[in-house]
Amino acid sequence: MSLELSKKAAAVKPSSTLAITAKAKELKAAGKDVVGFGAGEPDFDTPENICNVAIQAIKDGFTKYTPASGIVELKKAVCEKFKKFNGLEYTPEQIVISNGGKHSLTNIFTVLLNPGDEVIIPAPFWLSYPEIVKLANGVPVILKMTEKENYKLTAEALEKAITEKTKAVVINTPNNPTGSIYTEEELRAIADVVVKHDIYVVADEMYEYLVYDGEKHVSIASFGKEIYDRTITCSGLAKSYAMTGWRIGYTGSSPEIAKMMGSVQSHQTSNPNSIAQKAAVEALTGPQDSVAMMCTEFDKRRKYIYERVSKLPHVKAVEPKGAFYLFVDAGDVIGKVHKGETVDSISKMADILINEYNTAVVPCGDFGFDTHIRLSYAISLEQIEKGIDRIESFLKTLE
Ligand code: GLU
Repeated sequence: MSLELSKKAAAVKPSSTLAITAKAKELKAAGKDVVGFGAGEPDFDTPENICNVAIQAIKDGFTKYTPASGIVELKKAVCEKFKKFNGLEYTPEQIVISNGGKHSLTNIFTVLLNPGDEVIIPAPFWLSYPEIVKLANGVPVILKMTEKENYKLTAEALEKAITEKTKAVVINTPNNPTGSIYTEEELRAIADVVVKHDIYVVADEMYEYLVYDGEKHVSIASFGKEIYDRTITCSGLAKSYAMTGWRIGYTGSSPEIAKMMGSVQSHQTSNPNSIAQKAAVEALTGPQDSVAMMCTEFDKRRKYIYERVSKLPHVKAVEPKGAFYLFVDAGDVIGKVHKGETVDSISKMADILINEYNTAVVPCGDFGFDTHIRLSYAISLEQIEKGIDRIESFLKTLE
């Protein structure tokens, strides 16, 4: 016998977005005036109508187990939303409600992958995709994209990367961390490659409501039966409804995949929180004005942060069109000297900003780009202004 622990678990890196956020919260609690550009977490409270329904659910005793893959009322609400917002026809048996987007992705990769199957992940990517793929015994294949195509996957790059072992590709639009949005034309070209090579698409559309400048969110599964059958569309309530802590994510897929995901979930977690499910029904079917209000607010912040960062020395940002992140190329900072000390990596830059400037940013090494940082602008304009002033002070010291 051996007391050796799981090699698979040991290989998993802890989530740095959550670690940075925890550190910022800790410093705040210790009385430091920290600006947190860390995790993408809306600073708004969950809308009152949603909270009221949750309180009522507790009072009504809706506090017991529900069906493992979610209540029918919520699945129906998700179907309605898919139909109206995404142009996708799903029936309740194609829907699985899970404990947040990460859980949905865990279910998806658990059901899709056999040991050694490859999943193509365009970089920059949200840091949890490769780790979740590895936990499901898959092999993440990272495809580094460039600024030229706004860091989006192209059909040509996808086609070149496909091998015998490719099982799926991850498409995240609007994108975390770049804020880029895939156009219909780009998605159609990708869909053609997917169908031709008979692989799956994991379409992570978590930020679908948060689009700006008249851009349109398009769901890849909406282009016809062949691509619909090969796509698992994944979304959730955290970002659009300021419900990060409630942990509700959902998927639309073939009935076969949904059934398998439901079975897996029935052993691993049982149902998502019953009260949160009731709240989710209200979020999806109740008044949507708070979503519009938050989106307008994020848009103001987006314009401000992009304009400010564009004028800073040594860095360059991509103009985000969706989500609430600014992806900043800080490659020129690496190798420069700050107060006598060389900034030898992007993590070092992030360390200096948090330790000396009380400003939390995400170094994007874990997002596949060790030359970039990510700034979440899901915080107030005053905080953004203060934080960018601090980053500016740091950049101006560099020699
Ligand atoms: N998804 C958010 C982010 O990228 C929250 C933190 C996390 O789960 O990674 O910041």
